[in-house]
Amino acid sequence: MIIKPKGTMDITLEDAKIWKYVEDVIDSVMEKYNYNYIRTPIFESTELFHRGIGNTTDIVSKETYDFLDRGNRKLTLRPEGTAGVVRSYIENKMYGTCSLPVKVYYNGTMYRYERPQLGRYRELSQYGVEVLGSSDPMVDAEIISLALNINKMLGLKGNKAHINSLGDQESRDHYREALKKYFEPHLDDLCEDCKARFDKNPLRILDCKVDHDKEYFKKAPSILDYLNEESKKHFDKVCEYLDLLEVDYVIDDRIVRGLDYYNHTVFEINADIPSFGSANTLGGGGRYDTLVSQLGGPDTPCVGYAVGLDRLVMALKEEKIALPIKKDVDIFILYVNEDEKKNAIYLANELRMAGFVVETEYTNRSLKGQFKRADSFDSKYLILLNSEELKDGLITIKNNKTKQSDQVLLEYIIYYFEEHIGITDNDGEVETDYEEDK
Ligand code: AMP
Repeated sequence: MIIKPKGTMDITLEDAKIWKYVEDVIDSVMEKYNYNYIRTPIFESTELFHRGIGNTTDIVSKETYDFLDRGNRKLTLRPEGTAGVVRSYIENKMYGTCSLPVKVYYNGTMYRYERPQLGRYRELSQYGVEVLGSSDPMVDAEIISLALNINKMLGLKGNKAHINSLGDQESRDHYREALKKYFEPHLDDLCEDCKARFDKNPLRILDCKVDHDKEYFKKAPSILDYLNEESKKHFDKVCEYLDLLEVDYVIDDRIVRGLDYYNHTVFEINADIPSFGSANTLGGGGRYDTLVSQLGGPDTPCVGYAVGLDRLVMALKEEKIALPIKKDVDIFILYVNEDEKKNAIYLANELRMAGFVVETEYTNRSLKGQFKRADSFDSKYLILLNSEELKDGLITIKNNKTKQSDQVLLEYIIYYFEEHIGITDNDGEVETDYEEDK
């Protein structure tokens, strides 16, 4: 038997319905915020991630799936979504052709060679937003609120944003020096990764999963004491707008985020589920004002975030949130002989095109078996096809709950169901509390 690769998942049956529901909610909320869907390649040139995410990050130094294609090109399966979006923004000259800011969202699989564990896979799914072309702290606050709003609409309670500021280059330079001074006496005690980070990127020491519980870590200097006037002003404004939006947040000066490209605001969205441990971080993001120019585009201040769908779905299941997932079939068509079967095929097609959810028989079950199958779908109505009745243009429809039957002329069948069921919402819109609140 061939089995799936380590760190990957099959999303099937009931789980697939939850995933689809979550993705529908994301799509519908993004529409309200006027974000455009964007789809970029799953593999990109390796150089994009090295230059974009940074060579010193865990993601690029240890976790990427790199390969040479048959034409000897160095390619990498994307470990995150931002670098590809930024490349696309530059390559398609969106800065010249679109009015700024460009607001996009994506949803797709990412690949990281990590040690698989709860909420950590090698193929993971993230949805994310990027706003390219605005330095306004209003956008930082709005996207934090957007991430929490989506979780709220899915029914998750108690989610919180943990926010911090990494300031501008000048603030970070001062802070970097202060951190190095602070950690220097402890250098021998740090893990091997942190020893390497000490020279290359000391801020990332704060992100260490191995050492972070040590007493001297807790007393390390805070970036917030090193923000210059301008950086402080930006951060204060973000907090002011978050307050205005009544966002549940805490300031957490230990958040530095795993990627090199952030400045000013950084944040994580956390669930509060005791059994989740580090998988409580559902998502994170921040401002990256220099990435576009670093990758060859014009100066373009940006901000964005990504949320892990695997963990979102895990949280919904763990919290046993009842999702309004449509399970039932509107109409199940039963038949016995070939003449009835042809009518079943024809009617199923007509009724589906009219907007109803229709199921029928595909494996020659007995009538008894078909009734059982119809019940397994919670079918609202049954059409009991009968050759004799069909000769007179008649069909029998049975309400599967009340067990009441009606005989209806074939040409009136759609009207009949329109009256008794109503047209199913056919445009992919998800009805949510959000819409009702409008
Ligand atoms: P990051 O891009 O590392 O900031 O991650 C953003 C979010 O993606 C995390 O908070 C997780 O929800 C999710 N995520 C990151 N890495 C993994 C992984 N290996 N497996 C599952 N989800 C992940």
